[in-house]
Amino acid sequence: MRYSEMFLPTVREAPSDAELISHQLMVRAGMIRKLTSGVYSWLPLGYRTLRKFEEIVRRQMNLSGAQEVFLPMVQPAELWQESGRWVYYGKELLRFRDRHDRECCLGPTHEEVITDLVRNEIKTYRQLPKNLYQIQTKFRDEIRPRFGVMRSREFGMKDAYSFDVDEAGSEISYRKMFEAYKRIFSRCGLNFRPVEADSGSIGGSYSHEFMVMADSGEDAVCYCGSCDYAANLEKAEIARPDVNVQDVEVPPMAEVHTPAVRTIEDVARFLDVKPSGVVKTLIFSADEVPVAVLVRGDHDVNEIKVKNYLHCGLVELADDETIKKVTGSVKGFAGAVGIKCRIIADFSLLEMGEMVMGANREDFHLRHIIPNRDFPLQEFADLRVVRDNDLCPRCGGKITIARGIEVGHVFKLGLKYSRAMRAVFLDKNGKEQFMYMGCYGIGIGRTVAATVEQNNDQDGIVWPVALAPYHVIITPVNVNEKQISDAAENLYRELIDRGVEVILDDRDERVGVKFKDADLIGIPWRVTIGPKRLAEGNVEIKRRCSGETKVIALNEAADFLNAEIITALS
Ligand code: ATP
Ligand code: MG
Repeated sequence: MRYSEMFLPTVREAPSDAELISHQLMVRAGMIRKLTSGVYSWLPLGYRTLRKFEEIVRRQMNLSGAQEVFLPMVQPAELWQESGRWVYYGKELLRFRDRHDRECCLGPTHEEVITDLVRNEIKTYRQLPKNLYQIQTKFRDEIRPRFGVMRSREFGMKDAYSFDVDEAGSEISYRKMFEAYKRIFSRCGLNFRPVEADSGSIGGSYSHEFMVMADSGEDAVCYCGSCDYAANLEKAEIARPDVNVQDVEVPPMAEVHTPAVRTIEDVARFLDVKPSGVVKTLIFSADEVPVAVLVRGDHDVNEIKVKNYLHCGLVELADDETIKKVTGSVKGFAGAVGIKCRIIADFSLLEMGEMVMGANREDFHLRHIIPNRDFPLQEFADLRVVRDNDLCPRCGGKITIARGIEVGHVFKLGLKYSRAMRAVFLDKNGKEQFMYMGCYGIGIGRTVAATVEQNNDQDGIVWPVALAPYHVIITPVNVNEKQISDAAENLYRELIDRGVEVILDDRDERVGVKFKDADLIGIPWRVTIGPKRLAEGNVEIKRRCSGETKVIALNEAADFLNAEIITALS
């Protein structure tokens, strides 16, 4: 493509709302433009990369035996009522009425539509397993769209759905997708990790997220330095400690007046103990039943773990009235001694000796507390958020916390949708059975943005070859000098003949401007054609990723570049 003919509006300044480097660079490089909050247009350069990523995804999906479909974006409310998600999905689901006053929504995901399709067509075990996928636009009315196409409202997703006769078959389908995802993200040259994840609102039994590692990522990820255990922070487990607290003489429990002492640190300082010697008592309302959760003062409660442990639908911090009812005091002084509700404690309490807690009385704390001497405590569980240097639940190694961008998600759904929507088949014995399902998503635009987030420098984007919108840019330093422009035109044609994706920067611009744009849009190889080298029959080739340059004979340049690209892509 000739630069002079391209629709490639590069800009010096990033928009003021662009916090992330990927958002800034994608706008500056003329890849995307915002239409309205969370809704973006893809311009030619950006769309080429987007399409390349889609092709990588498509190829790996096809190789793994999945078949491509294309499902409607507009979906009838009835299907969502059947699955129960019409109510449950909340405000991210964009709902509207058609001219006949029928309720509809824009698909934020397609479990309902695919389950409906499959239940109508598949009758017996002989037709299973099946894995169907599509690459399609989703709409989610995100509460805070941000970071450009990383968290937008309208976005492209690859979503696949597997249907199996039993759990073992479903496990095989899941593993196939898991391996395909690893190949897809490796192919893009990304530094990523699959991590164990909570199943969240889609529900189901088992899931992994694929995280592209980036300090700016929205998600916290834990991984072990010694084995391959990795999980997102919500899910990361902590093993039950192997403890045998020695019997030591602990003085009787005592109440202390602690006026104006509020935070855990204040309490610890006031009583001259470490924050890890204080216990936080948080009162939760679990499906409207109060429960006291005890964690060490220097730890944080993980509400998802509390929710999973209690097997309930809604867990939230209790309101002041409930706190008053179970503790008899105002908020901020809760403790386990004398509390009128179920008590559960994090494992770390097993390792504590005497503890300090709120006294259930305003401005008072209790010290020298021993569980099961001073209050009953039977339930211990993993209830807290993991921290750096915690011990790996699998091998005892050290856990590190890092940040990542979730680009893909694989779920085992079990029978959740097939039960709700009666997706059944006849087994070998002619008996009706529910299908075992799995669902597998990849954010198309988000992966492109995550690639930029991981591959850039002060001058712009540094595309991995597999996703580069073009592989080569030819930069004649002066298009008004015939020899130079002829050489550039010839090389351009030679590269096109070899099938190389090439831009000829034929603009009548200063060479500095051309170099800046080439760096900004991140083309992997730049060929500079200038008077001095050309007089010797040479050109200069520069690699965007390493900055290394090489002088090569003009008549060898096309073959050299072609070979480099083939090597990089193989
Ligand atoms: P998140 O926790 O980031 O909101 P999610 O759990 O809602 O993600 P899924 O429902 O698993 O996401 O969707 C599959 C994939 O779609 C995600 O892994 C992500 O790559 C992509 N995705 C989800 N929401 C968005 C969005 N608002 N903008 C762009 N991509 C998205
Ligand atoms: Mg979401």
